[in-house]
Amino acid sequence: MNKKIGFIGCGKMAQAMIGGLIESNVIDKHQIYVSARSNETLVKVKDLYNVHTLNSNIDLAMQVDYLFLAVKPDLYPTIIEEIKEVISNNTVIITIAAGITLEGVEKSFGKEVKIVRTMPNTPSLVREGMSALCHNQVVTNEELNEVMEIFNSFGKCELVNEKLMDAVPAVSGSSPAYVYLMIEALADGAVLQGIQRDQAYKLAAQAVLGAAKMVLETELHPGELKDQVCTPGGATIEAIAELEKKGFRSSIISAMERCTEKSVSLG
Ligand code: NAP
Repeated sequence: MNKKIGFIGCGKMAQAMIGGLIESNVIDKHQIYVSARSNETLVKVKDLYNVHTLNSNIDLAMQVDYLFLAVKPDLYPTIIEEIKEVISNNTVIITIAAGITLEGVEKSFGKEVKIVRTMPNTPSLVREGMSALCHNQVVTNEELNEVMEIFNSFGKCELVNEKLMDAVPAVSGSSPAYVYLMIEALADGAVLQGIQRDQAYKLAAQAVLGAAKMVLETELHPGELKDQVCTPGGATIEAIAELEKKGFRSSIISAMERCTEKSVSLG
């Protein structure tokens, strides 16, 4: 892709996307421009990825075709105020923050700007990200295809109606954190039974990866895949029965409700 991509803010999420993007070879690192609050971050990012680093958000905003606003949601108004005068009609703004709506961003710019609202996740770093996208009317098909090419370079992406974007953080933006918790718990359970800690993490993480691949590649219902491994009177159904008793599924569903409420309140 022959375009310049900029990131205002270069923390955990931006670095995950940059790492995945460079690894994929969709663009060269010299096409990536980054600004941050501190020089410390810029030095670190330069060392890690050898991309262009700039001290000025304005200088960055003036020269890129696709501009990620990769700061915390509460900083969006400040950053937009800072760059709005220099943003050209052709720049595509890409938001990645929970609760930040297309309309809110349009209002903050006070003029017609091209906006793609997205919700990525940090497994983008290993090119297994999952992102949801929606966009406003002024984004062209060609631009949308390029944005999707960017997001597909570090994982998969789905177009979603904006009404549903608030539900995405809970299911894919934040959910890697719940899965890490589960992997840690699986490993603790394995250590309790005498398995070495480093081996326990490998066993647990690969089992989670494999189960996820089974869902994606067989396209079988997760319930059916669960049934397949539950021998009547066997050990797996014992574990499932205990998880049900402890409210495993309902605690995930209610955690997601809390995540969604919080995400909406951040915008
Ligand atoms: P983070 O690690 O705290 O990074 C925030 C970045 O913003 C830092 O690099 C910081 O610079 C920079 N920044 C702060 N003020 C700035 C300014 N005035 N000008 C330029 N840069 C500035 O946060 P994060 O986890 O990457 O999250 C960033 C966004 O991604 C949030 O809106 C979040 O909702 C969204 N998101 C995150 C995840 C996730 O799993 N982390 C998933 C989906 C979406 P310094 O490094 O110099 O302080």
